[in-house]
Amino acid sequence: MKLPVRSVLFAGLICGAISVAPFKSRVAADDVPLYGYSAESSRVERQWEEKLRAIPSAENLRAYMQRLSARPHNVGSPYDKDNAEWIASRFKEFGLDTHIETFNVLYPTPKERLVELVDGGPHFRAKLQEPVVPEDPTSNQTAEQLPTYNAYSIDGDVTAPLVYVNYGLPEDYEVLDRRGISVKGAIIIARYGHSWRGIKPQVGAEHGAIGCIIYSDPRDDGYSGGEVFPKGPYRPPDGAQRGSVQDSSVFMGDPLTPGVGATADAKRVAIKDAQTLTKIPVLPVSYADAQPLLAAISGPVAPRNWQGGLPLTYHLGPGAAKVHLKVFSNWDIKPLYDVIGKIAGSTNSEEWVIRGNHHDAWVNGAEDPISGMVAVMEEARALGELVKQGWKPKRTIIYCAWDGEEPGLLGSTEWVETHIDDLRKHAVVYINSDSNGRGFFELEGSHTLEHFINDVARDVQDPETKLTIWKRAQLREIESAKSPEASNEVRNRHDLRLEMLGGGSDHAPFINFAGVASLGIGFGGEDGGGIYHSIYDDFYWYTHFSDTKFVYGRALAQAGGTSIMRMADADLLPLQFTDFADDVKMYVTEVKKFSAEQREEIRRKNQEISDGVYEATSDPRQTWVTPKPQELPPHINFAPLDNAVETLERSSAEYQKVLERLSANGGAALASASVAEVNALLMQSEHKLTTPEGLPGRFWYKHELYAPGVYTGYAAKAIPAVRESLEQKKWQQAEEAAARVAKVLQNEAQLIADAAVKLSAIH
Ligand SMILES: [Zn+2]
Repeated sequence: MKLPVRSVLFAGLICGAISVAPFKSRVAADDVPLYGYSAESSRVERQWEEKLRAIPSAENLRAYMQRLSARPHNVGSPYDKDNAEWIASRFKEFGLDTHIETFNVLYPTPKERLVELVDGGPHFRAKLQEPVVPEDPTSNQTAEQLPTYNAYSIDGDVTAPLVYVNYGLPEDYEVLDRRGISVKGAIIIARYGHSWRGIKPQVGAEHGAIGCIIYSDPRDDGYSGGEVFPKGPYRPPDGAQRGSVQDSSVFMGDPLTPGVGATADAKRVAIKDAQTLTKIPVLPVSYADAQPLLAAISGPVAPRNWQGGLPLTYHLGPGAAKVHLKVFSNWDIKPLYDVIGKIAGSTNSEEWVIRGNHHDAWVNGAEDPISGMVAVMEEARALGELVKQGWKPKRTIIYCAWDGEEPGLLGSTEWVETHIDDLRKHAVVYINSDSNGRGFFELEGSHTLEHFINDVARDVQDPETKLTIWKRAQLREIESAKSPEASNEVRNRHDLRLEMLGGGSDHAPFINFAGVASLGIGFGGEDGGGIYHSIYDDFYWYTHFSDTKFVYGRALAQAGGTSIMRMADADLLPLQFTDFADDVKMYVTEVKKFSAEQREEIRRKNQEISDGVYEATSDPRQTWVTPKPQELPPHINFAPLDNAVETLERSSAEYQKVLERLSANGGAALASASVAEVNALLMQSEHKLTTPEGLPGRFWYKHELYAPGVYTGYAAKAIPAVRESLEQKKWQQAEEAAARVAKVLQNEAQLIADAAVKLSAIH
């Protein structure tokens, strides 16, 4: 369900100005052994990697996509199972030891849907139907298409005045408060974007709303971005975005089996006790359906930055506009089919290198998720090919095609929860992909893997510019840097910083719940559009408007395959800690800065309130409510975090020094058997960043460095226990969290120091 951030952020971005330099032969770089390898093992590895990167074929990617997206394949549909079986047969054919693992999960599908305007304008009943497009050959598979809906909305039948809440974020309600507008007892209409969609009904319900309509504004992914489908890639008037609205702030996965695998005999809570269903009924609508509703809303004119792209003046409400919203679902238990394929490790078979992408979609899902899935399949084929040629990976490689990602990361979460004990012992890394498109290589993940994935990116060529995908990503970051300091850093720092992993795809159970070091990789930025989670996300759209020649699919298979091989073959696990310590330091600096700015902001606002600024500058002919003064936050003690960062910097520098000494003159010691003890320690390094109890009130999110924000959903927050306590103005909790996270970082520093001692004893 990965949100195509790029299509919103980079819509219209044209990158014509990049100078095209030939792809440099890596002769010079080849002299430097790969990180975690002796000179000899590095030489052998590079030869195998070259062979690997020559294998993926664009024709195969295209053929896989055509097959997998030929019919709708949502959870529980016949073609979902059919696809799983087809992927399993391909994995077997490629030489992977493959099985399908099944789970049983709560998966609601729509039974009754109604949105009608009953007062305040001419009676109007929303179509809630995406029309067939004659040139698009799969858009007419109406019988198999899941109607437009938001999964895990509770059932409900409500009639109430309509209020426009912009994106429906907490700060939008501050604007409504200023205008004296309450959503208590109202139905809210929010536009898609700027948060995960499930946040909108959640925040609305917290403010007393009784129903929620989410619509796709043409300004965000419709005609303001470009021509609409089928003439162009953007959202047509009747296109709607399906999607899950499960409340993911406490846990992900099957709502009936929190924290444990949804196996046949699992203990399940009753549906009425399921914690992650919404509190109010929700339905998504297209902008054609939203227009008469928005036009009927009266009351104050919405602020300028709340105005969308429809040809009308957006008002806040409430007024005479009254809406009837009805949602009823079939609350069925449906099977999930996860495809799991293995290549056994030759020497370190108890160490698992895991790769995955989901195969289920809302409808045909050519982009989301098949564009990523086909690259992952082609990697599996390439690795199988190398095994036939005599390649023997040290570690066990596991390829996964997840089911049920769209409704709430169900397939990956239930698998991780089922195998949690094994994963904690054996998992080295999890590498995820989801939708893939044209453009820039996107690097996100655990910061101990920052150096590793940067190195991989230096060895893969961008198919259109012929730069390395690393160089192109670096130049894009320079171009979008917000300050001269930021752009200098990108220019001069050896490795590009990884973005944090948020919610929104199958890496989440691995990193947040299991504490397995994880990466998310893929391309994007040049493939704007508006077919996300609609019937138009299909083979016709993808082959006309996205990676039409599948060259970025090939590049993803090369990058993913190289990553898996290099991790599977390394003598010493290529985790690197000086980058990591530098990133942690940055996050600590950021959270301290946030705290100081928050304090200053509250102080300034309180001063303005007492100065009478609000009354004097608000139009006296309109209703304006002066905000109440807020409690000034106490100073928080960040010293434990500062101390932990220093310890972390020292131990990571020490580890690096020992490794460099060992690597000098060929690093033959790295290939010795005693390196196993160091690897055993390194494998625990990500898990060390978790706590058994998890974040405050969020037991499933155990990682103390990053988590998807409670009020952002997709976007991650760094040091979330501290950051979110500050945002929620829980000062004492923030201070306690700072001490707890500091302890976690001290433990991590100790592990790195122990690894350095063990490493220095090797010869
Ligand atoms: Zn997806």
